[in-house]
Amino acid sequence: MAEDGEEKPRNFHEMELDDRILKAIAKLGWQTPTLIQERAIPLLLEGKDVLVRARTGSGKTAAFAIPVIQKILTIKQTAKHQEIKALILAPSRELCHQMCGVIKELTIKCSREVRCVDVAPPVELSVQKPLLVEQPDIVVGTPTRVLKHIKAGYMDLKKSMELLVIDEADLVFSFGYESEVRELMERLPSIYQAILASATLSEDVKNLKSLVLHNPVILKLEEPEIAPASQLSHYHLMAEEMDKATILYALLKLHLIRGKSIIFVNTVDKCYKIKLYLEQFGIPICVLNSELPAKIRCHSVNQFNQGIYDTIVASDEKALEQPGNPNDKNNSELQKSKRKKDKESGVSRGIDFQCVANVINFDFPLDVQSYVHRAGRTARGNNQGSVLSFVSIREKPLLEKVENHFKNDQDDVSIFKSYQFKLDEIESFKYRAKDAWRAVTRIAVREARLKEIKQEIFNCQKLKSYFEDNPTDLQVLRHDKALHTVKIQQHLSDVPEYIVPPTLKGIAGLGRKKRKRENYRTSQGSSSRFEAKKNNPLLSMDFEGFNSKKKKKKNNN
Ligand code: AMP
Repeated sequence: MAEDGEEKPRNFHEMELDDRILKAIAKLGWQTPTLIQERAIPLLLEGKDVLVRARTGSGKTAAFAIPVIQKILTIKQTAKHQEIKALILAPSRELCHQMCGVIKELTIKCSREVRCVDVAPPVELSVQKPLLVEQPDIVVGTPTRVLKHIKAGYMDLKKSMELLVIDEADLVFSFGYESEVRELMERLPSIYQAILASATLSEDVKNLKSLVLHNPVILKLEEPEIAPASQLSHYHLMAEEMDKATILYALLKLHLIRGKSIIFVNTVDKCYKIKLYLEQFGIPICVLNSELPAKIRCHSVNQFNQGIYDTIVASDEKALEQPGNPNDKNNSELQKSKRKKDKESGVSRGIDFQCVANVINFDFPLDVQSYVHRAGRTARGNNQGSVLSFVSIREKPLLEKVENHFKNDQDDVSIFKSYQFKLDEIESFKYRAKDAWRAVTRIAVREARLKEIKQEIFNCQKLKSYFEDNPTDLQVLRHDKALHTVKIQQHLSDVPEYIVPPTLKGIAGLGRKKRKRENYRTSQGSSSRFEAKKNNPLLSMDFEGFNSKKKKKKNNN
């Protein structure tokens, strides 16, 4: 107990974890457990069934992966046979892939002792059979794939399995896996330890709970829905569509955004509109939406995580599912998009975009939950982040809803700070932006959508054969290539000196990109001379901030 009577937070090395796990955690740079890890790991090591509700980005994957690995290492000290000991189910291929990645990182120092196989990829079952014959310690997969392997006789869990994890449990039923899960249960042993992890405690989760868990401990962490203000800053900027486009162009082109960014819009068409618009200025950007093949989405996120590109534009699932206003001209598109999306297509839910410094809401999210999900893409684990929302007059009520939702009853303070951007300083950007925005016609967008799907399906084939030969090389295909359905005018990719606002000369500039990226990396980890800006990655976009800094410098001289 701490002196003030409060229980002192437990550190990883106080959790009786195997040295090899502790070394892997150190290698990942995790200094302290997140709240959910601190609470869940000891309970799971004690052998309890646990239902965990934690916000996205809270570190919940490791909260159950660490005890699973620890238990397997312990079992193996005395085990006579190599057997599948743990089954981890997740509702999408992306999440399975991500989960396996986390387990591989956490078992880097005991990779011979603890092996994990992901059966989610949609290849012929027989292709995965040799992997299962070797009896990996952990199998990760969607309920459908796991059931198929069991039925095909490639895997038998009835006698060996001791641990069952269901991640993003609230999506498991809503993604239509109920009958598979029920069937699967009949093929599992009668006694095992089970863990359900979920962002919400919906009716579906309650149903799953009664199906899977025995006398569980329920960990409903009193965590805020979003990361605290010390970790996550929220800015808003009032602007209509054309001004939003101009500001985005200026921010990206002048490299005023530090680190990796996700731009959110509300429709798939808008994703392509933004991509085609920015392409004209030579700004590469990758699109992520539910129409693209799952394998490609996965690969895109991987490349983004590896820092191969810095900017992704995404239309999130919440927005796609929103029935919307029947008079809204976007509504018919929403309906169409809904029809086309595949069963596992959640874009912003559960997928771990790593080290995202900024979330930019080009379109303001349609409800509070969607804002929370988008904001949850940044400030993950113990990292810093910012959300910058562009807000049109029509979107203002949506902003107010979010503002009221998070207003503290006592101090009545808004989470949003107004973002200072002097639009008149980038007058010359306006003309270029207007031309480029208009050049992206509806036909160009439609062609781009089709072209990208074709291109990515072709990539899928290339991916398949390439990765068979080079399984570790993910860098061969890029998803941020230009689509060229709008005529590219070479001169637009340059930023002539005369259009750079005087306050930014010497600060903004091409060729700074690499340095900026490095700045972000250092700001996420060790101390550096950029440490002062660490708390606010978007600070570099504050024109007034620059002014005052420049003035100070002058005065000092
Ligand atoms: P999750 O909620 O499991 O998707 O994790 C969100 C992010 O937090 C991932 O990128 C993890 O790498 C990171 N993370 C998990 N645990 C920690 C920790 N103890 N310290 C710092 N980062 C962490």
